[in-house]
Amino acid sequence: MSISTFDDRIGPWCAPIRPVQAKSPRSAPRLIDRCGRVHDCLRISVTDRCNIRCFYCMPDIPEDHLPRTDILTFGEIERVVRRAAAAGVRKLRFTGGEPLVRKDLPVLLRRVAGIPGIEEVALTTNGVLLAGCAADLYAAGIRRINVHLDTLDATRYRTITRRDELSRVMAGIDAARGAGLSVKINAVMVKGFSEPDLHALAGFGRANGIEVRFIEFMPLDACGLWEMGKVLPMSEMLRILSKDAGPLVPVRGADRRAPAVEYRFADGCGKVAFIASVTRPFCGNCNRLRLTADGKLRYCLFAVEETDLRTILRQGDGDEDIDSALRETVGAKWARHQIQADALVPPPRGMCGIGG
Ligand code: SAM
Repeated sequence: MSISTFDDRIGPWCAPIRPVQAKSPRSAPRLIDRCGRVHDCLRISVTDRCNIRCFYCMPDIPEDHLPRTDILTFGEIERVVRRAAAAGVRKLRFTGGEPLVRKDLPVLLRRVAGIPGIEEVALTTNGVLLAGCAADLYAAGIRRINVHLDTLDATRYRTITRRDELSRVMAGIDAARGAGLSVKINAVMVKGFSEPDLHALAGFGRANGIEVRFIEFMPLDACGLWEMGKVLPMSEMLRILSKDAGPLVPVRGADRRAPAVEYRFADGCGKVAFIASVTRPFCGNCNRLRLTADGKLRYCLFAVEETDLRTILRQGDGDEDIDSALRETVGAKWARHQIQADALVPPPRGMCGIGG
Protein backbone atom coordinates (compact mmCIF):
# COMPACT_ATOMS: atom_id res chain seq x y z
CA MET A 1 0.00 0.00 0.00
CA SER A 2 1.51 3.29 -0.96
CA ILE A 3 0.58 6.62 0.54
CA SER A 4 -1.36 8.81 -1.81
CA THR A 5 -1.61 12.47 -1.07
CA PHE A 6 -4.28 13.40 -3.59
CA ASP A 7 -7.95 13.22 -2.80
CA ASP A 8 -8.83 11.54 -6.07
CA ARG A 9 -6.84 8.47 -5.00
CA ILE A 10 -9.24 7.83 -2.15
CA GLY A 11 -11.92 5.20 -2.68
CA PRO A 12 -15.61 5.77 -3.21
CA TRP A 13 -16.51 5.53 0.44
CA CYS A 14 -13.88 8.09 1.39
CA ALA A 15 -15.21 11.39 0.08
CA PRO A 16 -12.57 13.97 -0.84
CA ILE A 17 -10.75 15.62 2.01
CA ARG A 18 -11.23 19.37 2.13
CA PRO A 19 -8.00 21.38 1.92
CA VAL A 20 -6.29 21.69 5.31
CA GLN A 21 -6.76 25.13 6.88
CA ALA A 22 -3.37 26.66 7.52
CA LYS A 23 -4.45 28.75 10.51
CA SER A 24 -4.58 27.09 13.90
CA PRO A 25 -8.09 26.21 15.05
CA ARG A 26 -10.01 28.32 17.53
CA SER A 27 -9.61 26.79 20.92
CA ALA A 28 -12.59 25.29 22.75
CA PRO A 29 -13.15 24.65 26.47
CA ARG A 30 -11.38 21.53 27.73
CA LEU A 31 -13.36 18.33 27.98
CA ILE A 32 -13.79 17.85 31.73
CA ASP A 33 -16.61 15.68 33.06
CA ARG A 34 -18.65 15.84 36.28
CA CYS A 35 -16.01 13.76 38.08
CA GLY A 36 -13.22 16.15 37.06
CA ARG A 37 -11.72 13.73 34.55
CA VAL A 38 -9.92 15.51 31.73
CA HIS A 39 -10.46 13.92 28.32
CA ASP A 40 -7.40 14.11 26.11
CA CYS A 41 -7.70 10.83 24.24
CA LEU A 42 -10.02 9.99 21.34
CA ARG A 43 -10.48 6.47 19.96
CA ILE A 44 -11.64 6.51 16.39
CA SER A 45 -13.18 3.54 14.63
CA VAL A 46 -12.85 3.72 10.86
CA THR A 47 -14.90 0.66 9.97
CA ASP A 48 -17.07 -2.01 11.56
CA ARG A 49 -15.76 -4.62 9.09
CA CYS A 50 -13.16 -7.17 10.09
CA ASN A 51 -11.15 -9.79 8.24
CA ILE A 52 -11.19 -12.34 11.09
CA ARG A 53 -14.10 -13.66 13.17
CA CYS A 54 -13.07 -14.15 16.80
CA PHE A 55 -15.62 -16.42 18.46
CA TYR A 56 -15.93 -14.08 21.46
CA CYS A 57 -16.45 -10.98 19.31
CA MET A 58 -18.72 -11.62 16.33
CA PRO A 59 -20.54 -14.43 14.52
CA ASP A 60 -18.88 -16.02 11.47
CA ILE A 61 -21.51 -14.42 9.28
CA PRO A 62 -22.19 -11.04 10.88
CA GLU A 63 -25.71 -9.75 10.71
CA ASP A 64 -25.46 -6.37 9.05
CA HIS A 65 -22.49 -4.17 8.34
CA LEU A 66 -22.99 -0.44 8.29
CA PRO A 67 -23.89 0.87 4.85
CA ARG A 68 -20.83 2.56 3.39
CA THR A 69 -22.66 5.87 3.09
CA ASP A 70 -23.09 5.86 6.89
CA ILE A 71 -19.34 5.65 7.49
CA LEU A 72 -17.58 8.92 8.16
CA THR A 73 -15.35 10.10 5.34
CA PHE A 74 -11.71 11.00 5.95
CA GLY A 75 -12.67 14.67 5.68
CA GLU A 76 -15.37 14.28 8.34
CA ILE A 77 -13.03 12.43 10.71
CA GLU A 78 -10.37 15.08 10.19
CA ARG A 79 -12.86 17.81 11.04
CA VAL A 80 -13.85 16.10 14.29
CA VAL A 81 -10.20 15.64 15.22
CA ARG A 82 -9.52 19.34 14.65
CA ARG A 83 -12.29 20.31 17.06
CA ALA A 84 -11.28 17.63 19.56
CA ALA A 85 -7.69 18.88 19.41
CA ALA A 86 -8.91 22.44 19.95
CA ALA A 87 -10.60 21.14 23.14
CA GLY A 88 -7.43 19.51 24.43
CA VAL A 89 -7.39 16.04 22.87
CA ARG A 90 -3.75 15.05 22.43
CA LYS A 91 -3.84 11.32 21.67
CA LEU A 92 -5.67 9.45 18.96
CA ARG A 93 -6.01 5.70 18.64
CA PHE A 94 -7.45 4.25 15.44
CA THR A 95 -9.38 1.04 15.60
CA GLY A 96 -12.34 -0.83 14.14
CA GLY A 97 -13.52 -3.48 13.12
CA GLU A 98 -10.15 -3.91 11.55
CA PRO A 99 -8.76 -0.47 10.71
CA LEU A 100 -6.34 -1.74 8.06
CA VAL A 101 -9.22 -2.92 5.87
CA ARG A 102 -10.14 0.74 5.40
CA LYS A 103 -8.71 1.81 2.06
CA ASP A 104 -5.79 4.23 2.23
CA LEU A 105 -5.84 4.50 6.01
CA PRO A 106 -2.26 5.90 6.14
CA VAL A 107 -3.49 8.92 4.19
CA LEU A 108 -5.92 9.75 6.98
CA LEU A 109 -3.35 9.01 9.68
CA ARG A 110 -0.89 11.40 8.13
CA ARG A 111 -3.52 14.14 7.92
CA VAL A 112 -4.61 13.87 11.54
CA ALA A 113 -1.04 13.50 12.84
CA GLY A 114 -0.36 16.96 11.42
CA ILE A 115 -3.25 18.66 13.23
CA PRO A 116 -1.99 21.22 15.79
CA GLY A 117 -2.25 19.82 19.30
CA ILE A 118 -2.16 16.14 18.32
CA GLU A 119 0.87 14.58 19.97
CA GLU A 120 0.37 10.89 19.38
CA VAL A 121 -1.45 8.75 16.85
CA ALA A 122 -1.61 5.01 17.60
CA LEU A 123 -3.34 2.04 16.04
CA THR A 124 -4.95 -1.20 17.20
CA THR A 125 -4.95 -3.96 14.59
CA ASN A 126 -5.27 -7.71 14.25
CA GLY A 127 -2.05 -7.63 12.23
CA VAL A 128 -3.30 -9.64 9.24
CA LEU A 129 -2.60 -6.81 6.75
CA LEU A 130 0.23 -5.24 8.71
CA ALA A 131 3.23 -6.55 6.78
CA GLY A 132 2.05 -4.77 3.63
CA CYS A 133 1.69 -1.35 5.24
CA ALA A 134 4.02 -1.14 8.26
CA ALA A 135 6.41 1.24 6.50
CA ASP A 136 3.49 3.42 5.33
CA LEU A 137 2.16 3.59 8.87
CA TYR A 138 5.54 4.72 10.15
CA ALA A 139 5.81 7.30 7.38
CA ALA A 140 2.33 8.57 8.31
CA GLY A 141 3.50 9.31 11.85
CA ILE A 142 2.42 6.18 13.73
CA ARG A 143 4.97 5.06 16.30
CA ARG A 144 3.00 2.66 18.48
CA ILE A 145 0.69 -0.17 17.52
CA ASN A 146 -1.14 -2.83 19.47
CA VAL A 147 -1.48 -6.13 17.68
CA HIS A 148 -4.27 -8.41 18.74
CA LEU A 149 -3.03 -12.00 19.08
CA ASP A 150 -4.63 -14.54 21.44
CA THR A 151 -2.46 -17.58 20.76
CA LEU A 152 0.75 -18.66 19.05
CA ASP A 153 -0.66 -22.03 18.06
CA ALA A 154 -1.93 -22.21 14.46
CA THR A 155 -4.75 -24.65 15.23
CA ARG A 156 -5.97 -22.64 18.20
CA TYR A 157 -5.67 -19.44 16.16
CA ARG A 158 -7.98 -20.97 13.55
CA THR A 159 -10.43 -22.05 16.25
CA ILE A 160 -10.49 -18.58 17.80
CA THR A 161 -10.61 -16.47 14.65
CA ARG A 162 -12.21 -18.94 12.18
CA ARG A 163 -9.49 -17.86 9.78
CA ASP A 164 -6.03 -19.21 8.93
CA GLU A 165 -3.97 -16.05 9.27
CA LEU A 166 -1.45 -16.68 12.07
CA SER A 167 1.59 -16.64 9.79
CA ARG A 168 0.51 -13.30 8.30
CA VAL A 169 0.09 -11.82 11.78
CA MET A 170 3.55 -13.00 12.82
CA ALA A 171 5.02 -11.54 9.62
CA GLY A 172 3.15 -8.32 10.37
CA ILE A 173 4.68 -8.06 13.84
CA ASP A 174 8.15 -8.59 12.36
CA ALA A 175 7.55 -6.03 9.62
CA ALA A 176 6.21 -3.48 12.09
CA ARG A 177 9.24 -3.79 14.34
CA GLY A 178 11.50 -3.68 11.31
CA ALA A 179 9.84 -0.44 10.24
CA GLY A 180 10.57 1.12 13.63
CA LEU A 181 7.14 0.76 15.25
CA SER A 182 6.85 -0.10 18.92
CA VAL A 183 4.58 -3.14 19.23
CA LYS A 184 2.45 -4.41 22.12
CA ILE A 185 0.32 -7.53 21.92
CA ASN A 186 -3.31 -7.58 23.11
CA ALA A 187 -4.63 -11.02 24.04
CA VAL A 188 -8.23 -11.59 25.11
CA MET A 189 -8.50 -14.35 27.72
CA VAL A 190 -11.71 -16.37 28.07
CA LYS A 191 -11.95 -18.63 31.13
CA GLY A 192 -11.90 -22.34 30.40
CA PHE A 193 -10.39 -21.78 26.96
CA SER A 194 -7.42 -19.41 27.00
CA GLU A 195 -5.40 -20.72 29.95
CA PRO A 196 -3.00 -22.79 27.75
CA ASP A 197 -2.01 -19.64 25.84
CA LEU A 198 -1.01 -17.51 28.82
CA HIS A 199 2.42 -18.96 29.37
CA ALA A 200 3.36 -19.21 25.68
CA LEU A 201 2.36 -15.61 24.96
CA ALA A 202 4.18 -14.25 28.03
CA GLY A 203 7.26 -16.26 27.05
CA PHE A 204 7.09 -14.91 23.48
CA GLY A 205 6.91 -11.38 24.83
CA ARG A 206 9.81 -11.97 27.18
CA ALA A 207 11.98 -13.47 24.44
CA ASN A 208 11.28 -10.66 21.99
CA GLY A 209 11.06 -7.60 24.23
CA ILE A 210 7.34 -7.15 23.51
CA GLU A 211 4.81 -6.31 26.21
CA VAL A 212 1.86 -8.70 26.15
CA ARG A 213 -1.38 -7.28 27.59
CA PHE A 214 -3.91 -9.83 28.77
CA ILE A 215 -7.48 -8.56 28.49
CA GLU A 216 -10.40 -9.81 30.57
CA PHE A 217 -13.38 -10.92 28.47
CA MET A 218 -15.95 -8.11 28.52
CA PRO A 219 -19.74 -8.15 27.89
CA LEU A 220 -19.31 -6.65 24.44
CA ASP A 221 -19.66 -9.66 22.20
CA ALA A 222 -22.18 -9.74 19.40
CA CYS A 223 -22.77 -13.47 19.99
CA GLY A 224 -24.39 -13.52 23.44
CA LEU A 225 -21.53 -15.62 24.83
CA TRP A 226 -20.50 -13.45 27.76
CA GLU A 227 -21.22 -14.44 31.31
CA MET A 228 -19.30 -13.71 34.50
CA GLY A 229 -18.15 -17.35 34.66
CA LYS A 230 -16.25 -16.89 31.35
CA VAL A 231 -14.12 -14.05 32.73
CA LEU A 232 -10.59 -15.15 33.54
CA PRO A 233 -9.79 -12.62 36.24
CA MET A 234 -6.47 -10.82 36.35
CA SER A 235 -5.80 -12.38 39.78
CA GLU A 236 -6.11 -15.86 38.27
CA MET A 237 -3.90 -14.97 35.30
CA LEU A 238 -1.25 -13.65 37.70
CA ARG A 239 -1.44 -16.86 39.69
CA ILE A 240 -1.01 -19.06 36.60
CA LEU A 241 1.85 -16.97 35.22
CA SER A 242 3.67 -16.77 38.55
CA LYS A 243 3.48 -20.55 38.92
CA ASP A 244 4.96 -21.11 35.47
CA ALA A 245 7.45 -18.27 35.13
CA GLY A 246 8.27 -17.14 38.66
CA PRO A 247 6.99 -14.18 40.63
CA LEU A 248 5.71 -11.03 38.96
CA VAL A 249 6.31 -7.62 40.50
CA PRO A 250 4.04 -4.58 39.95
CA VAL A 251 5.71 -1.83 37.92
CA ARG A 252 5.78 1.37 39.95
CA GLY A 253 5.37 4.80 38.43
CA ALA A 254 3.37 3.64 35.40
CA ASP A 255 0.83 6.05 33.86
CA ARG A 256 -2.15 5.85 36.24
CA ARG A 257 -4.56 6.78 33.47
CA ALA A 258 -3.50 3.87 31.25
CA PRO A 259 -5.98 0.99 31.26
CA ALA A 260 -3.22 -1.61 31.64
CA VAL A 261 -1.67 -2.61 34.97
CA GLU A 262 1.94 -3.60 34.34
CA TYR A 263 4.01 -6.30 36.03
CA ARG A 264 7.61 -7.24 35.39
CA PHE A 265 9.15 -10.64 35.84
CA ALA A 266 11.17 -10.78 39.05
CA ASP A 267 14.32 -11.79 37.13
CA GLY A 268 14.17 -8.38 35.43
CA CYS A 269 13.56 -9.85 31.98
CA GLY A 270 10.32 -8.68 30.42
CA LYS A 271 6.92 -7.29 31.37
CA VAL A 272 3.31 -8.31 31.03
CA ALA A 273 0.22 -6.20 31.57
CA PHE A 274 -3.44 -6.78 32.35
CA ILE A 275 -6.50 -4.90 31.21
CA ALA A 276 -8.86 -5.89 33.99
CA SER A 277 -11.94 -3.94 32.94
CA VAL A 278 -14.24 -6.41 34.70
CA THR A 279 -12.54 -7.17 38.00
CA ARG A 280 -10.52 -3.95 38.41
CA PRO A 281 -12.25 -1.17 36.50
CA PHE A 282 -10.10 1.85 35.79
CA CYS A 283 -12.99 4.25 35.25
CA GLY A 284 -11.70 6.68 37.90
CA ASN A 285 -8.83 7.60 35.61
CA CYS A 286 -10.65 7.39 32.29
CA ASN A 287 -9.55 10.07 29.82
CA ARG A 288 -11.13 8.56 26.72
CA LEU A 289 -13.89 9.43 24.30
CA ARG A 290 -14.88 7.27 21.35
CA LEU A 291 -16.04 8.00 17.83
CA THR A 292 -17.73 5.11 16.00
CA ALA A 293 -17.28 4.51 12.29
CA ASP A 294 -20.77 5.90 11.66
CA GLY A 295 -20.06 9.09 13.54
CA LYS A 296 -21.53 8.48 16.99
CA LEU A 297 -19.71 9.87 19.99
CA ARG A 298 -19.52 7.63 23.08
CA TYR A 299 -18.20 8.42 26.54
CA CYS A 300 -17.64 4.75 27.45
CA LEU A 301 -17.32 1.36 25.77
CA PHE A 302 -20.37 0.30 27.76
CA ALA A 303 -22.48 3.41 27.23
CA VAL A 304 -26.01 2.71 26.03
CA GLU A 305 -26.46 6.22 24.67
CA GLU A 306 -24.55 7.94 21.85
CA THR A 307 -24.33 11.47 20.47
CA ASP A 308 -25.07 11.71 16.76
CA LEU A 309 -22.17 13.71 15.39
CA ARG A 310 -22.65 12.55 11.81
CA THR A 311 -25.87 14.50 11.40
CA ILE A 312 -24.15 17.62 12.71
CA LEU A 313 -21.31 17.09 10.24
CA ARG A 314 -23.59 16.43 7.28
CA GLN A 315 -26.23 19.07 7.76
CA GLY A 316 -23.60 21.78 7.53
CA ASP A 317 -23.56 22.89 11.17
CA GLY A 318 -20.68 25.00 12.43
CA ASP A 319 -17.67 24.11 14.56
CA GLU A 320 -19.51 25.34 17.68
CA ASP A 321 -22.01 22.52 17.19
CA ILE A 322 -19.23 19.94 17.08
CA ASP A 323 -17.71 21.56 20.19
CA SER A 324 -21.08 21.34 21.96
CA ALA A 325 -21.54 17.69 21.00
CA LEU A 326 -18.10 16.86 22.40
CA ARG A 327 -18.85 18.75 25.61
CA GLU A 328 -22.32 17.25 26.02
CA THR A 329 -21.00 13.73 25.56
CA VAL A 330 -18.32 14.27 28.19
CA GLY A 331 -20.87 16.01 30.43
CA ALA A 332 -23.15 12.96 30.35
CA LYS A 333 -20.38 10.53 31.29
CA TRP A 334 -21.13 8.26 34.21
CA ALA A 335 -18.72 7.75 37.09
CA ARG A 336 -18.12 4.12 36.20
CA HIS A 337 -19.33 1.36 33.94
CA GLN A 338 -21.95 -1.10 35.16
CA ILE A 339 -20.38 -4.50 34.34
CA GLN A 340 -20.50 -5.71 37.92
CA ALA A 341 -24.01 -4.32 38.48
CA ASP A 342 -26.90 -6.80 38.57
CA ALA A 343 -28.80 -4.60 36.16
CA LEU A 344 -26.08 -4.48 33.50
CA VAL A 345 -27.59 -3.36 30.20
CA PRO A 346 -25.18 -4.42 27.42
CA PRO A 347 -24.55 -1.71 24.82
CA PRO A 348 -26.66 -2.07 21.67
CA ARG A 349 -23.62 -2.94 19.57
CA GLY A 350 -20.61 -5.17 20.15
CA MET A 351 -16.92 -4.31 20.35
CA CYS A 352 -16.48 -4.46 16.57
CA GLY A 353 -19.29 -1.98 16.02
CA ILE A 354 -18.08 0.41 18.70
CA GLY A 355 -14.33 0.19 18.15
CA GLY A 356 -12.28 -1.56 20.81
N1 SAM B 1 -9.33 -5.32 14.72
C1 SAM B 1 -8.55 -4.70 15.73
C2 SAM B 1 -7.99 -5.73 16.68
O1 SAM B 1 -8.23 -6.91 16.46
O2 SAM B 1 -7.29 -5.34 17.61
C3 SAM B 1 -9.24 -3.59 16.48
C4 SAM B 1 -10.66 -3.83 16.93
S1 SAM B 1 -10.91 -5.16 18.04
C5 SAM B 1 -12.63 -5.05 18.31
C6 SAM B 1 -10.12 -4.52 19.48
C7 SAM B 1 -9.79 -5.50 20.54
O3 SAM B 1 -10.98 -5.85 21.22
C8 SAM B 1 -9.14 -6.80 20.10
O4 SAM B 1 -8.00 -7.03 20.88
C9 SAM B 1 -10.21 -7.81 20.40
O5 SAM B 1 -9.72 -9.07 20.67
C10 SAM B 1 -10.85 -7.19 21.61
N2 SAM B 1 -12.18 -7.70 21.94
C11 SAM B 1 -13.19 -7.99 21.12
N3 SAM B 1 -14.26 -8.43 21.79
C12 SAM B 1 -13.91 -8.40 23.10
C13 SAM B 1 -14.58 -8.73 24.31
N4 SAM B 1 -15.84 -9.16 24.32
N5 SAM B 1 -13.92 -8.59 25.48
C14 SAM B 1 -12.65 -8.15 25.49
N6 SAM B 1 -11.97 -7.81 24.38
C15 SAM B 1 -12.58 -7.95 23.20
